[in-house]
Amino acid sequence: MEIITTVPELQERIMNWEKAGKTIGFVPTMGYLHEGHLSLVRGARRGNDIAAVSIFVNPKQFGPAEDYNVYPRDFNRDAALLEKEGVDLIFYPSVNDMYPAGYKTYVKVEDLENKLCGSSRPGHFRGVCTVVLKLFNLIRPDEAYFGWKDAQQVIILKKMVEDLNLPIKIRPMPLIREKDGLALSSRNIYLNQQERKAALVLYRSLELVESLIKDGERRAAKIRQQMIDLISAEPLTRIDYVEIVDFQTLDPLEAIEGDALVALAVYLGRTRLIDNLRFISGVIEK
Ligand code: AMP
Repeated sequence: MEIITTVPELQERIMNWEKAGKTIGFVPTMGYLHEGHLSLVRGARRGNDIAAVSIFVNPKQFGPAEDYNVYPRDFNRDAALLEKEGVDLIFYPSVNDMYPAGYKTYVKVEDLENKLCGSSRPGHFRGVCTVVLKLFNLIRPDEAYFGWKDAQQVIILKKMVEDLNLPIKIRPMPLIREKDGLALSSRNIYLNQQERKAALVLYRSLELVESLIKDGERRAAKIRQQMIDLISAEPLTRIDYVEIVDFQTLDPLEAIEGDALVALAVYLGRTRLIDNLRFISGVIEK
């Protein structure tokens, strides 16, 4: 496994693999890896000659009052985990390598970027799209793997790839959870014991949605209100949003008919957690 930290070295490495006709599967991450990340890595490893992973805590996707400075980092542990997975390349650039002084270019997927997480995290998806497009241009993968944990991110990046005619297949992968249902996240480490316990209400609210849908309920307002009541009954939570939206447009739905995304963001103390359930072609995925 090679660890590359600079852009010119990376470009040379990628060119050599391209010349040798190798296919490249790519997994962008911010590090502090868990089983959710590793499931994407395994997908990339299975489907391609070369598996490449980037580890970069991207300052441009954090708001000024957000957790960029304290975001957990442990490169040595991450590298050991990736080595065990048979990864060929880790790209681990510095902020200055990605955004040298005078950096000015940004990518926006209009409209979609302002909904759901975008409305409480202005500029977040502009930062995500910018760094992902830069990484795509540097690594030139055949396939890129992303988790349904960040459903809005998947939907926005698919749109970016389509709109900009990028020759890359986006491969969304299942959301990986703890045994008790909590979605794995690098940010779970911020939770104290009480918050960790209270955080289960996110998953319970999705189980509630599943049972309501199975019982034939389709009215979004009814489902949403029951989720809000359940989550609010847990005193350690503060809801950022609970939304039931169209899977393509991310606009609120009156009734769940076609494909829908049930998405939520909830604060446990100072930690903001997200989770979601997808209703696609009549099948519930969570
Ligand atoms: P991050 O390091 O948080 O930027 O995440 C990197 C990639 O891992 C993104 O595509 C995430 O959607 C994905 N990911 C994070 N947590 C999970 C999870 N619990 N299950 C599946 N994928 C995940």
